[in-house]
Amino acid sequence: MCVKDDNERRKDHDKEYVGFATLPNQVHRKSVKKGFDFTLMVAGESGLGKSTLVNSLFLTDLYKDRNLLNAEERITQTVEITKHTVDIEEKGVKLKLTIVDTPGFGDAVNNTECWKSVADYIDQQFEQYFRDESGLNRKNIQDNRVHCCLYFISPFGHGLRPLDVEFMKALHEKVNIVPVLAKADTLTPAEVKKKKIKIREEIEQYGIKIYQFPDCDSDEDEDFKQQDQELKDSIPFAVIGSNTVVEAKGKRVRGRLYPWGIVEVENPAHCDFVKLRNMLVRSHMQDLKDVTRETHYENYRAHCIQSMTRMVVKERNRNKLTRESGTDFPIPMVPGATDTETEKLIREKDEEVRHSPSREPHEQTQHHEQHSEPEDPHLEPPPSADPHSKGS
Ligand code: GDP
Repeated sequence: MCVKDDNERRKDHDKEYVGFATLPNQVHRKSVKKGFDFTLMVAGESGLGKSTLVNSLFLTDLYKDRNLLNAEERITQTVEITKHTVDIEEKGVKLKLTIVDTPGFGDAVNNTECWKSVADYIDQQFEQYFRDESGLNRKNIQDNRVHCCLYFISPFGHGLRPLDVEFMKALHEKVNIVPVLAKADTLTPAEVKKKKIKIREEIEQYGIKIYQFPDCDSDEDEDFKQQDQELKDSIPFAVIGSNTVVEAKGKRVRGRLYPWGIVEVENPAHCDFVKLRNMLVRSHMQDLKDVTRETHYENYRAHCIQSMTRMVVKERNRNKLTRESGTDFPIPMVPGATDTETEKLIREKDEEVRHSPSREPHEQTQHHEQHSEPEDPHLEPPPSADPHSKGS
C-alpha cells in the first residue's frame, strides 16, 4: 500500500486545480464594484399610499417636495410621470434605486386611456436603450428600463375596477406587474383573504399576465419550497405603509397608531409588507431585471425592427419601377448603390428577427444578447412598437 506524504498530496491537488472555481468570486467582485441599479414604478389611484409605501420599503424620504393638487386642479389632470433616484448602500453594496411615480393616474373625471402616458414612458425607455445599444458607446449605457410596476388596488372596492383591468391589460406585455392590495389595515383578515381570492380570480378571468415567480428547482429544500409557495399565494400583497415610528411592546417600530391599537408595518401577522420587500430586494430583483431584458425589451426590439424593415421594404417598392433591383425579403443590396450604415443595420436586424424563435410573453429562458452595428447618426428614430400607435 502506498502512503502519500503531505507534500505529495499538495502537489497532486495543485495539478488538479486549474482555478476556475474562483469564477463566481470574480463575477461577485466585479458586480459589487460596478454597483446595481433597479427601477421601480408605482401606479394606481392617488391617495392609496404609494409614496408612503415606497418610503417605508427603502427607508428614505423620496417625496419631500411633492405638490398635492386640489380637487379643481384634478378634474382635468393628466397623468404626469415623475422620477426620483437615490443611491443607497448596504455593507459596501451600492444600489441606484429609481422610483417612477404616476401622479394623476385615475384622478380626472374622464380617465379613458389614462394608462397611455405610462405605456409611452415605458416604451420611451426601451427606445432610448435600443438607440444606445446600437450606438458607438455601448459600454456606458444608462439603463432606465422599468423593471417592475407595483400596481395599487383599492381596498374599498369589490375586486378590480374597470380602470385596473384596463391598465394592467395595456401594460402587462411591457413591464412586470406586481399587484398590491393597498391600505390593508382598513380590512379585517377575513376581508383581506376574500378580496385576494376575488382579485386573483379576476386577473385570471380577464387574461391579465402579471409577473410570474419562477418555479422553484426540484432539489431545493422543503422550507424553501414552502416559502416560495407562500409567496405565490400572497398575490396581491396586502400592504400597509407608514412614515412614522411608534412604540409597540417596548420596541420602536414603523407603524400606524390608532385609538384601538398599533398596526405594525413589518409584522407578518398584520400584512405582507415584509414578504413584498423580501421579494423585491432579496429574492427576485435579479429575476425581475432578467424578465425585463429577455422578454419585455426583446418584444419591443422585435416590433421595432419589424416596423423598420417594413418601412424600408415599402420605400424600396416605391422606387422599384425606376430601378432594376430585387425587393424580396430580406432587403437585397442595390447593385452599384452605396451601402449606407443604416441599410446595413436594418439588414442585420431583419436577419436577427427572421432567425430568432418567436418568444411568448413572460417566457423566462436564457438567450444570448445580440448586438447591432454602430448606429448611423442620420438614422430616423425607431418607430414606436406600441400596438396602439399608428405606426405599428
Ligand atoms: P399616494 O397619493 O398614493 O402617494 O398616497 P400617500 O402615500 O400620499 O398616502 C395618502 C394618505 O393615506 C396619507 O394620509 C397616508 O398617511 C395614508 N396612508 C398611506 N399608507 C396607508 C396605509 O397603509 N393605511 C392607511 N390606513 N393609510 C395610509
